[in-house]
Amino acid sequence: SIQVMTKDGAYDVNVDSELRFRLHELLPKSYRKVFVITDSTVGPLYLDDVLTELRKVSEVDYSIVPAGEGSKSSRFYFNLMTEIINAGLDRDSLIVALGGGMIGDLAGFVASTYMRGIDFIQMPTTILAHDSSVGGKVAINHPEGKNLIGSFYQPKAVLYDVDTLHTLPLREIRSGYAEIVKHSLIHPTPFWDQLKSLNLNQPLDNERLVSDLINGIHVKREIVQQDEFEQNVRQYLNFGHTLGHAIEAERGYGHITHGEAVAIGMLFALRVSEQHFNIQLPFDELYRWFKQNNYPFDVSDLSVTRLITRMKKDKKAKNSAIQMVLLKQLGECTSVRLEDNDVTLWLETFMRELV
Ligand code: NAD
Ligand code: ZN
Repeated sequence: SIQVMTKDGAYDVNVDSELRFRLHELLPKSYRKVFVITDSTVGPLYLDDVLTELRKVSEVDYSIVPAGEGSKSSRFYFNLMTEIINAGLDRDSLIVALGGGMIGDLAGFVASTYMRGIDFIQMPTTILAHDSSVGGKVAINHPEGKNLIGSFYQPKAVLYDVDTLHTLPLREIRSGYAEIVKHSLIHPTPFWDQLKSLNLNQPLDNERLVSDLINGIHVKREIVQQDEFEQNVRQYLNFGHTLGHAIEAERGYGHITHGEAVAIGMLFALRVSEQHFNIQLPFDELYRWFKQNNYPFDVSDLSVTRLITRMKKDKKAKNSAIQMVLLKQLGECTSVRLEDNDVTLWLETFMRELV
C-alpha cells in the first residue's frame, strides 16, 4: 500500500483486487457504528458485499443517493445529515464513501462537517477516483459553481478494490484514464511510455489497472504532500484543466465527461507549451492515443470567444490574463500568464486541427 503524509497524520491507500471481501480487517480501527454512503448505480452492484463485511464488526446503516453530479448538492448534503443524526452517529463513528468522485466528495464533506468532523474512509469505484480520493479535498456544488462549498479533510484510509472497475461504462474508463495520463505527463516519472500500449477498447486487466492506478496515485501523493493546501505546486494538477473546465461548462456537464474534456485540454496545453517555449513535445503521440481510444474531439461547434471568456481569471474584465499550466519539457510543469489575444489565436488554430 501507499502511505500519504498529511498535517493531520498519515493514511494508507490500498489498491488491490477483492478488497471489499477483506474490509473488516482493513479498517483503521474498530468502530461501534458505520454509515455507508453510495449512489444508485454502485449500490446495487457492491453495497451488499460491503455491508456483509462491515456487519461482522459494527452496527451498520447506509444511504443511497441518485447517481450523478446532481447529488453533490446542499439538498442531498442536508438529507444525509438528517439520516446520520437519526442513525445516532457520534464522534466515534465512521462514514464509508462507496463510489466515484461524486460520492467521495459528498460523503467526505458530510464527514468533515458532522460534529466538526468524524472519521471517513474512501472506497473508490471509478478510475477517476484515484485522483479525487487522494489529496483531501471534499466538497459539494453551488448553483453558481462547482465545488464552491468544501474543505480540506483527509480520509483515514483509501481502499481501492479494482474488481469494481470492471462494471464501469467505457466513457467513465476514458474519463479516469485521462487523469492517469495527466499524472504521467506532469511528473518526472516516465510512465507515459507504459501507458502508450494500452487499448481501452479491450477488457481491463487487473494487474495493469493496479499498476497504472498506483503510478497515478504516486504522482498525486507527491504533489499534495509538498503542497497540501494549494499554495504552489498543487496547481500543476490543473494541467489540461483550464480549457478542459471551459469545454465541460460550455458543452454542459453530463454531455462530455470530465476526463474527456481534460484530454482535449491537455492536447491544447501541449500545443501552447510548444509555441510558448519553442520546444517539441509528444503532441502527435498523445493525439493518436486519444484518437485510438475513441476520445471525443467534436468541439468545433463551440465558440472560441466563449471558451476564452471562461478561461480568464477575471471573467468580467475585457482584457485579462489567462493562467495556464504548461510543460517546459515532459515531466516539468510551470504556471504561465498568457495574453488572451495569443491564446485566442492558438485556440482557433488548435480547434481547426482537432478533428
Ligand atoms: P461519479 O462518481 O459521478 O461516477 C461516474 C459515473 O459512474 C456515475 O454514474 C456512477 O454512478 C458510475 N459508477 C461509479 N462506479 C461505478 C462502477 N464501479 N461500475 C459502474 N458504474 C459506476 O464521477 P467520477 O468521474 O468518479 O468523479 C467526478 C467527481 O469527482 C466530480 O464531482 C468532481 O468534482 C470530483 N473530483 C474531485 C476531486 C478532488 O480532489 N476531490 C478531483 C477530481 C474530481
Ligand atoms: Zn480533473
